[in-house]
Amino acid sequence: MDHNARALIWFREDLRIGDQPALAAAIAPGLPVIALYVLDTMGGVRSPGGAFRWKLHGALNNLRAALATLNIPLVLQQGDAAETLESLIQTLQVDAVFWSRRYAPDAVAQDKAIMARLKSLGTTVESFNSKLLAEPWTVKTGAGGSFKVFTPFCRAARARHSDLRPRPAPDAAHPWDTPPDLGDDLESWGLTPASPAWTEPDWTEGLNARWPGGEAAAKARMHGFLEDGFKGYKDGRNLPAAPHVSGLSPYLATGEISPRQARQAALTAAEQAGGALDADFETFERELYWRDFSHNLLFFGDDITTKNHQPKFDTFPWADDDAAFKAWTKGQTGYPIVDAGMRELWHTGYMHNRIRMVTASFLTKHLLIDWRRGEQWFWDTLVDADPASNPANWQWVAGSGADAAPYFRIFNPMTQGTKFDPDGQYVRQWVPELAGLPDKHLNTPWEAPALILEKAGVKLGETYPKPIVDHKAARERALAAYKEIK
Ligand SMILES: Cc1cc2nc3c(=O)[nH]c(=O)nc-3n(C[C@H](O)[C@H](O)[C@H](O)COP(=O)(O)OP(=O)(O)OC[C@H]3O[C@@H](n4cnc5c(N)ncnc54)[C@H](O)[C@@H]3O)c2cc1C
Repeated sequence: MDHNARALIWFREDLRIGDQPALAAAIAPGLPVIALYVLDTMGGVRSPGGAFRWKLHGALNNLRAALATLNIPLVLQQGDAAETLESLIQTLQVDAVFWSRRYAPDAVAQDKAIMARLKSLGTTVESFNSKLLAEPWTVKTGAGGSFKVFTPFCRAARARHSDLRPRPAPDAAHPWDTPPDLGDDLESWGLTPASPAWTEPDWTEGLNARWPGGEAAAKARMHGFLEDGFKGYKDGRNLPAAPHVSGLSPYLATGEISPRQARQAALTAAEQAGGALDADFETFERELYWRDFSHNLLFFGDDITTKNHQPKFDTFPWADDDAAFKAWTKGQTGYPIVDAGMRELWHTGYMHNRIRMVTASFLTKHLLIDWRRGEQWFWDTLVDADPASNPANWQWVAGSGADAAPYFRIFNPMTQGTKFDPDGQYVRQWVPELAGLPDKHLNTPWEAPALILEKAGVKLGETYPKPIVDHKAARERALAAYKEIK
């Protein structure tokens, strides 16, 4: 890269210094580098939800410290990204700007406009991939179109991309004679209760314990998973109480770890195991490609966050049921596996994938509530809230998406509970008022004999709700609604 004054790296969804080609490109011998993060409050891109904002705080704090070791000051600003960038470029006489690419249509449009504007001002701009294994436009069908179905997408992506090794962290940049003292104090953004600008009651206790910020924490989580959970991932990833998922999604969402880094660590572990973990690696890599596939849908789709991918769902008779929606958000539906999931989400900012499918199915089918309301709730409460994976998965469950589960596949919350949480460990953890029930009745407390309920200290309708809908009737109602649009 040819530039001869100062370079700027604009961080967005890539808050790390490892496997960071934009940063490596910004660092040129003898020249200082500045880093920028803009909290876009002007609606240029989808505004982050509450839990993700909290996660952002830890990620940015750690990024700032990591960049300091490379002599790169991190400037934090709120407002319009284009204006902020341009004014910083002028103030610091920057002549080259680097970033990692984004894939949401609103972000792509913003990046294109900014790139054109900066280039017209004579600034060099270069962008890189550090977020995906395979960028959307690199994986095409034989006819040159984009994939709508996962399996052929995954096959094509695997065939197309052979070098997925992460790039090493760069050497330090040339130090500033006088480091610029610009931008906001992170605490002034009010992202955590510790900040004087925080305005809400403190709902973050369970998040603090679970999601320490930074690249080192992301790596530690990856290593913990490789030690304790990777062996058996292929089948164990479906069991919410088992230690067989990585818990990396919040770190992938902020970019504290890259998918190339995660994949490489798993590959190395599998290679060292001499074949014993090959099936687990294959499944883990496949899940990372699900993430890429979601980005593929986001990039090529016509606003997957607000529009049904299948237009026939535009006339679906969704129910306008605020009371039911509220019960769902609070984990008070009377269906233990659903309530366990919704409470896990509220307390930890995370929910196990299997249970995300169960709770999303329950909302869209048992309660007949529009998937967009559920998507928005997840967006606000998930620490891994992702502009691609969240809407793509909601549409998948609702049946309105590309390559979606058919609408008539309605998860039965009782059998999902007994199949995937057979000893009730997950339900007992998150719905402790039912902990005393024997396994046999844990997922159907309303069918338990009065004596057993009494012995377990359960009073239906008082200590734990009765089911807010009858499973069989709800299922029939959902199928009838689906018939209307078929
Ligand atoms: C209704 C619904 C909403 C979801 N919303 C999000 C979201 O906002 N953000 C998000 O990252 N994931 C979302 N997912 C996908 C999935 O549930 C999470 O990625 C996964 O539970 C994260 O846990 P993990 O890192 O322990 O997963 P692991 O099993 O360890 O998987 C490793 C990685 O693979 C990727 N991955 C796994 N499953 C999927 C999937 N179905 N789709 C896309 N990527 C996947 C994730 O990046 C994950 O971190 C959603 C799923 C559903 C059903």
